[in-house]
Amino acid sequence: MRAYRPTPELPRHLEQLYARFPFDRSLADDPIAPIRALATDPKRAEIAGILGATLAIGNTTAIRGAIRRVAGLAGGDVAWLVDPAHGRERARRLRGFRHRWIRGDQIDYLCRVLADHYRRHASLESAFVAGWEEGGFSGGLDRLARALRGEGRERVLGRPPAGYAALFPSPLDRSRSPCKRMTLFVRWMVRDRYPDLGCWRQVPTGELRIPLDQHVYWISYHLGLTGRKTRSWRAVEEVTEALRRVDPLDPIRYDFVLCHTGISGDCPKHRDLAVCGPCSVRPDCRLWHGRNVAA
Ligand code: SF4
Repeated sequence: MRAYRPTPELPRHLEQLYARFPFDRSLADDPIAPIRALATDPKRAEIAGILGATLAIGNTTAIRGAIRRVAGLAGGDVAWLVDPAHGRERARRLRGFRHRWIRGDQIDYLCRVLADHYRRHASLESAFVAGWEEGGFSGGLDRLARALRGEGRERVLGRPPAGYAALFPSPLDRSRSPCKRMTLFVRWMVRDRYPDLGCWRQVPTGELRIPLDQHVYWISYHLGLTGRKTRSWRAVEEVTEALRRVDPLDPIRYDFVLCHTGISGDCPKHRDLAVCGPCSVRPDCRLWHGRNVAA
């Protein structure tokens, strides 16, 4: 079967989707809503961002609730969590915390890793940039993942709790994970356009890779941005490359709208004229290919 390719009109239709998108409605549903509230300065933005990205498993209501619960345990100031003076009290407060399979002892260890990192560096950006300069975006993500796992710092940090390292996958791991939560964190840190936080300055937006969750993957596949049948790091690269042809300077500009088109139920994931009718990318969607149905 011939591969389904994006139509020449896709850039214009994506722009229409973006221009019409109700950002404020979807922002309230997005994990970045509580993160923005906690991001009172760049350091707090980074701490709230990595906590939020780590907890970004499951539905968005549960994720937002988990972020707010962790922040609540810190009295609303996430900088408290990485203050070495509060290590024992932090561990005590996090003891009963649970979100899906993520446990409080893992979040406590992450805070310990961050406290150790901030003793030596101003930001996690330095870890990403060191890897990016050597091995491009996947090299940057790999170095960031290693820093967050606490690799090479076990003598200072102690052994990580069970399952901790798996919270921070790298595109260079054998599993070739799409690393959705890690790419999402880097998006929040690098892009300075709404709704992202833009507190890293050294990484150009053109370098970003798409956070390929199930919603973004599904629409990307149906728009012909990838022909891959599963989410993987290769699919991330393919979708990003296709979007780079639309906007070389900001290839993941459409990530938020594609993701929330799926989350909000505006994409039924099957042919339904009542819902698909107003969809800006319907002429490009493979479900409607060859069907001239007026909206
Ligand atoms: S046409 Fe329908 S199924 Fe296709 S992307 Fe748009 S809303 Fe989703």
